[in-house]
Amino acid sequence: MDVEEMYQEIILDHYRQKHHSGLREPFDAQVVQVNPSCGDEVMLRVTLDGDTVKDVSYDGVGCSISQAATSVMTDLVIGKSVENARERYAEFHEMMHSKGRMEPNEETLEDGIAFVGVAKFVNRVKCALLGWEALREALDQTAAEPGGATATMTQEK
Ligand code: ZN
Repeated sequence: MDVEEMYQEIILDHYRQKHHSGLREPFDAQVVQVNPSCGDEVMLRVTLDGDTVKDVSYDGVGCSISQAATSVMTDLVIGKSVENARERYAEFHEMMHSKGRMEPNEETLEDGIAFVGVAKFVNRVKCALLGWEALREALDQTAAEPGGATATMTQEK
């Protein structure tokens, strides 16, 4: 099995059995992201515990890339700090805009490395980023709440 096939397998595994899927309560922010060019949609909720991403729950429809990438994203950010989640977003975002030329770091991106091949297909990049953009927007929402611990941290930067 070559690397491309292995990556394909990882994506299909996540698509068949999405990790952390379903919408859960309580939540601190909820966003909807759509990718009209492909018909992908995701509703995503983020629950924070101080500076920790306690839970990310979601419900979505769309292509295997969009669904699998959201599943992989939840594995990478649940239980991590908000700062850490934003770093993963930035790293995944950079990889998806590398046109497949970036050497992905398996230690930080784990199953996310499987999407490096997808980055070669411009029209699929938005599919892979859908759940991640929803996460970023949800984190921005929680940071914008007055008095929130994350709000102070963001302003310091
Ligand atoms: Zn798609």
